[in-house]
Amino acid sequence: MTILTIDNFINNEYVKPSRGLYLDSLEPARAITFAKVPDSTKEDLELAYKAAAAAFPAWSKTTKEHRAKIMYKIADLIESRLDEFAQAESKDQGKPVEVAKTMDMPRVLANFRFFAGSILHSREHATEALGALSYTQRVPIGVAALISPWNLPLYLLTWKIAPCIAWGNTAICKPSEFTSYTAHLLTSVLKEAGLPAGVVNIVYGTGMGVGQAMVEHPRIPIVSFTGGTVTGAKIMAATAPHFKKVSLELGGKNANIVFADCDFEKALKTSVLSGFANQGEICLCGSRVFVEKPIYEKFVQRYVEAAKALKVGDPSLKDTNLGALISKEHWEKVMSYIKLGVEEGGKIECGGQKPASLAEEFQNGYFMEPTVITGLTPSCRTMRDEIFGPVVTICPFETEEEVIQYANDSDYGLSCTIWTENGRRARRVASEIQAGTIWVNTWLARDLKMPFGGFKKSGVGREGGEYSCDFYTELKTICLAG
Ligand code: NAD
Repeated sequence: MTILTIDNFINNEYVKPSRGLYLDSLEPARAITFAKVPDSTKEDLELAYKAAAAAFPAWSKTTKEHRAKIMYKIADLIESRLDEFAQAESKDQGKPVEVAKTMDMPRVLANFRFFAGSILHSREHATEALGALSYTQRVPIGVAALISPWNLPLYLLTWKIAPCIAWGNTAICKPSEFTSYTAHLLTSVLKEAGLPAGVVNIVYGTGMGVGQAMVEHPRIPIVSFTGGTVTGAKIMAATAPHFKKVSLELGGKNANIVFADCDFEKALKTSVLSGFANQGEICLCGSRVFVEKPIYEKFVQRYVEAAKALKVGDPSLKDTNLGALISKEHWEKVMSYIKLGVEEGGKIECGGQKPASLAEEFQNGYFMEPTVITGLTPSCRTMRDEIFGPVVTICPFETEEEVIQYANDSDYGLSCTIWTENGRRARRVASEIQAGTIWVNTWLARDLKMPFGGFKKSGVGREGGEYSCDFYTELKTICLAG
């Protein structure tokens, strides 16, 4: 098998890492290396910085219409190669191709199209008072560091690139060292769409290496990061002395609250999806399920039946529900939490191991059965720590007050889903939950105009629509007298 070599993308050119070092990039479903990815260093970052800084003055002065036109073209070009992108994402990340096709790639297109439209319709403010006309002006900030994780690789990278360049900044991106392939495919699209050299640069490599160098770089004034909470704390510390603008989208351990008066079938179906979509590797997965006592037994029985029916294996098959986890280390981490769940008194209702029926070529892949654990108390570690895999806990509750307390008894506060047909209850509970996004009778529906971010250790700041505009621009007040 030929191994693909990916190189950094700097000034619209493919540039080898200055020290010639590469990392292995594995296909998680087969546990084999399929690509070599630069292990970039400070020198590589400096080249990218020079390119981005040189491109900034001209790019920041282009019209919004011009930038929007290029971004619409980027989306159209990705759409014309959608299957190729979806297959690449699946190969690199382990997720089913179908998930990449129906969840990741549509969102990649939406990211570019939404922010292209958004800049054309943004708010402007002017007032006359005190004998003067005051108005505000938004200006791009400069060179941004955009750092993304491995779970939704291109989806989350473009969630940063699109608003960043739409508002006239230039970017240095670093995808996760585990998933660089679709970022590499994107580079050809950026060139073909006519994006000027230096506007988007990509350096690949590790977090502790080039990632840390990016956040410490004294002339990069803005950092948008999505990833783990522990990394978020490091980034906060590294950027604080420079007073950088920082947006942190971090971990989650989200409650999925099922009241007895819900639409049972809909709640069940979507709760199973929200537990196991993308192998449970979505920060918004509803991994803590709380079910009101009168329907608890029935819900657990049906949930377990549905989890057992999910197909785990070959990511290229259309009916595969769960592909492989991202890496051996992550597989072992998830397994260790299943073991901990048992030690903490939990009962494994289903799953808990590698599927026995994998085809020969996937025997070494990092697959795991959807796992459901009951019998745990909400204060135990299995229910508090972010596992980020196909592991769901289900607990009963008796009252609204009790379940609100369970849901909020978490270091995290990213999202929550509430299932009830009682509108008043939905509003009451939603207003008490400490989380950035609350879904009622749905999950993962995202209107990109709405703010996205987390309470507590789930993050700092909001992005989406005008909130992304606030983040990626500085705002000036200009006061004209006489
Ligand atoms: P991670 O924090 O290990 O890595 C994320 C990115 O940061 C990678 O590109 C990595 O190389 C880089 N990085 C690591 N250390 C760094 C450092 N010191 N300085 C700069 N960059 C550094 O996270 P992960 O394991 O890739 O992703 C999983 C985590 O991401 C989970 O906790 C998940 O909940 C979270 N996540 C959050 C959201 C959200 O929107 N809130 C979305 C997706 C994933």
